[in-house]
Amino acid sequence: MIDIQPDISLSNYAEALRKGKVIAFPTETVYGLGADAWNADAVARIFHLKGRPPDNPLIVHVNSIEMAGSLAAEISEDARRLMNRFWPGPLALILPKRPEVLDIVTAGLPTVAIRMPDHPIPLRLIEEAGPIAAPSANTSGRPSPTRVEHVRQDFGAEVPVIEGGSCQYGLESTVLDLSIRPYTILRPGHITQSELEQELHQPVRLISSHSTNFTDLSGNTPRSPGMKYTHYAPDARVRWMQPHELPLPDDLTRSTLYLLHRIRPNSAPYPETDQLIHYRENYTEMGRDLYDRFRMADLNRFAEIAIEPFTDSNEAVEALLNRIRKAIGD
Ligand code: AMP
Ligand code: MG
Repeated sequence: MIDIQPDISLSNYAEALRKGKVIAFPTETVYGLGADAWNADAVARIFHLKGRPPDNPLIVHVNSIEMAGSLAAEISEDARRLMNRFWPGPLALILPKRPEVLDIVTAGLPTVAIRMPDHPIPLRLIEEAGPIAAPSANTSGRPSPTRVEHVRQDFGAEVPVIEGGSCQYGLESTVLDLSIRPYTILRPGHITQSELEQELHQPVRLISSHSTNFTDLSGNTPRSPGMKYTHYAPDARVRWMQPHELPLPDDLTRSTLYLLHRIRPNSAPYPETDQLIHYRENYTEMGRDLYDRFRMADLNRFAEIAIEPFTDSNEAVEALLNRIRKAIGD
């Protein structure tokens, strides 16, 4: 965790939250657009600013298990186990909600998503202003913001942003639904299925990135309404690179940005240009960089982003693969 000194201006931001203002702030995953979770008007402003469909619920950010208990009807033993192991960190847990939790936050669902971010800025804000309802600080459909500039691209001067550099992970949190059995990952993230299974001593289901509109046992409601919307997409067309297309330095299509990641032991290294990025199997770095690259492609007017396919899908690339598939519209 980054250490910050007590900062008077953070108290001013906390004060703004208490007064019902919406502000943007860094977390270890992506920048969030936050409001006091107990203030319906303030939360409504988040939906309005983002152009977010009202049936897509928000994650509430807390700074303790105790505060999670003010939102969830009950903290089960399994929930507590996960909180103790992974909080603060990139894991949002879906639990049955207390009746007081605002309908606008949960989009009318009987459950609420809760997470404790591993970042000193939101933790301080929460300490001073209480739980913060916050989706990613992008306009709906755009890639999530991982740098201050991204928030400014989408909201200009309309939203105050607390600076915090580049986000540590750059991909959104793992979302785990503890309100159904088997427990189900609705969105893969840095915390993986096997890490969760190891802690819980039971199988955890992973919703495939292809099932965007699955139903629950009782009827036809999508379990995670947010999953049905196109996400994370730049204006440039994102597609998988074809095998024959492996770009040679002299042979790049001008309007295409190439993202490579595999190391080929016997081939000469590609010269890095702003048109060809090679992550050299550093998937943490690729995850951290992906949304920034998407946005840069638009700024630099690339028509396409061609991404080298993943030959084997293992846990290290699960979250990345999920976001790329969504950007492709697969
Ligand atoms: P965002 O904060 O923009 O990254 O989106 C939060 C994600 O969590 C979305 O995909 C939501 O659909 C999902 N989510 C939030 N609350 C719930 C809930 N109560 N049940 C299921 N999914 C949820
Ligand atoms: Mg989002």
